Amino acid sequence: MNFDELKKILKEIGEPGFRYRQIKDAFCKQAVLRFDEIRIIPKKLAVDLEGKISPLSFSLEKIVSAKNKLSYKALFRLDDGHLIESVLISAISGTWSACLSSQVGCQLACRFCATGQNGFKRNLTSEEITDQVIFWKNFVKTNNLPGTFSHIVFMGMGEPFLNWTEVKAALYRIISPDYFDFGARHISVSTSGIATGIKELARDFPQVNLAFSLVFPDNKQRDEYMPVNRRFNLEDMRKAIEYYIEVTNRKVFLEYIMLAGVNDQRNHADKICDFIDSIENGAKLLHVNLISYNSTNAEFKSSDAKTVKNFLNFLQRNHISATIRKSLGEEIDGACGQLAGQAN
Ligand code: SF4
Repeated sequence: MNFDELKKILKEIGEPGFRYRQIKDAFCKQAVLRFDEIRIIPKKLAVDLEGKISPLSFSLEKIVSAKNKLSYKALFRLDDGHLIESVLISAISGTWSACLSSQVGCQLACRFCATGQNGFKRNLTSEEITDQVIFWKNFVKTNNLPGTFSHIVFMGMGEPFLNWTEVKAALYRIISPDYFDFGARHISVSTSGIATGIKELARDFPQVNLAFSLVFPDNKQRDEYMPVNRRFNLEDMRKAIEYYIEVTNRKVFLEYIMLAGVNDQRNHADKICDFIDSIENGAKLLHVNLISYNSTNAEFKSSDAKTVKNFLNFLQRNHISATIRKSLGEEIDGACGQLAGQAN
């Protein structure tokens, strides 16, 4: 919903000021998807608005769900024809998290990532980002999914800090009591390594969580597999994370996708410990999430369960806070590094 446009239209057709608030609240807080679902506005107004403005900036092309009904992936067609994917996951029973896309494709081309392999088309607008929230809120409500829509993560297609102007505008509305009124502490922004973005996040949204996709704990491998590292290396990231912690005193999540024979050996675990120890308060505030790789690229395979467990044990023996994160979206290609704009 383009709220600025809505406000303009309501003014042009001579509606009183409170109508804007009623309609905005219906979309943001009560998660309606159509004007005629808003009971407190006159039917004629609903019909008029239906012809003048679309509630969502995209149309639903397809939706797929995992067999266990704990994850869903939607394919949306934007007004200019581009496709994006967005995911809903219940990682903790009774809660639902939306995993939002921030760009159509991604220019960072991490070698293990399906989104990166398909290139970059354009940034999403803040409206296209917040519309994913409206869609999933409505989806949870209308499908009577058990539990509440409680978390938002920016881990879908794209690098959020390379579209910071629009992501920031979306975050303001998502958090604002005047719009979605969503708790900032229930939102996470994930970056592949844009150090400058981390500093902006700390300054602008000190209560929003930060996740950093570390994946390779040394510069040589990061340079090879994640080209963003040639711009901001691990020393830049170390400083940025230290700054984030200093400003926010919040936990930082290090995302570590386990790739068989590539980054799952003892020396890698050792380097993760060194990286964390090099950060002031790192041992206290950094948490490592070990994630299975969902194979979208023949070059990589996920580490086996025993290797992941040994890796975890090594980190924990070295007093690193770490867990194996359940990867729920695999069956629908909705897990980390699998969103490619082509729901199957
Ligand atoms: S992992 Fe993230 S930053 Fe890297 S290519 Fe994929 S979407 Fe882009």
